[in-house]
Amino acid sequence: MAIKDLPKYKDIRNTIRRNGRYPYVGTACKDTIVIHHSLTAMKLAGSTPQAFANTHIDKNGWHGCAYPFVITWEGTIWQTDDLDRRTYHAGNTNTRSIGICVAGDFRKGKEKPTDAQILSLYLLIKELQRALPKLTRILGHQECPGYSWKNCPGDNWSYKDVVAGKFIATAKKNGWLKENSTWFYYANNVAKTGWHKDKSMWYYLKPEMATGWIKDKGKWYFLAANGTMQTGWVKDKSKWYYLNPSGDMVVGWKVIDGQWYFFDNDGSMKTGWLKHKNTSYYLHRSGVMITGWLCVDGKWYFFNPNGKMAQNAQLEVQSVTVNSDGSISQIN
Ligand SMILES: [Zn+2]
Repeated sequence: MAIKDLPKYKDIRNTIRRNGRYPYVGTACKDTIVIHHSLTAMKLAGSTPQAFANTHIDKNGWHGCAYPFVITWEGTIWQTDDLDRRTYHAGNTNTRSIGICVAGDFRKGKEKPTDAQILSLYLLIKELQRALPKLTRILGHQECPGYSWKNCPGDNWSYKDVVAGKFIATAKKNGWLKENSTWFYYANNVAKTGWHKDKSMWYYLKPEMATGWIKDKGKWYFLAANGTMQTGWVKDKSKWYYLNPSGDMVVGWKVIDGQWYFFDNDGSMKTGWLKHKNTSYYLHRSGVMITGWLCVDGKWYFFNPNGKMAQNAQLEVQSVTVNSDGSISQIN
């Protein structure tokens, strides 16, 4: 997925009102996401990116909407500006940050973000981090230097819980739910995280249902496109992997159906020559460890029953096939 593929994404960069452009600063310096609320009631006519643009141009004399992203009450993610601009939303933090405004007044006693806003905020942050992996610092506006006095993004919710994937639905939610094209599992209105067993299959919830490789407690697991944890052989990007019955990826030597295999540190099955602990082994293109005689690039080698290549050894050969020109074509 990319930002533009987020289900409730709307790109209004070419249509929103501007007064010149915010300075271009590139994305190399962007390491922070700053979260705001708009301090306007979420369903007011003024709680739209277009209205923010008018205020920021007419009242503040700026170049347009100061928030490159605005999330309105029904969960729409509006992009108003490029990621590489220095928009004026957080003072000294502007150059290094990208601002997201969750429309609403989230001070105590006022409103809370809707479930749709929370979900869109969570998914947008994930996509921004995928697009710009340096964006690891996530701050509320009031945590930016010089803004501790400001109640933004509001003390009536915990944006940190949302970032951590701990979100609680205000409406009744239970079981699997597909929201914004993403699967979640709710138990008593709380999006579940971690391993989840359902009909004898395992799933991993971040809280969005994971697919592909995930690392948990130092071990790798592979979840199919439908979210189910895989065991046994798995082919991914033309490489083979083997997953134990508990789902964890095998590294190093492993006996499978009576044959030895070797898996590199990244879990991929090894073929051909293998040097391991100063000993040479040879793995067939199927991954099976070779024992006995093997001709590689015109030279004969002998591999002991434990797979170790014989070196500086005297070997007893049971029978040899000698060709008419005297060359040996077969050793048994
Ligand atoms: Zn703010």
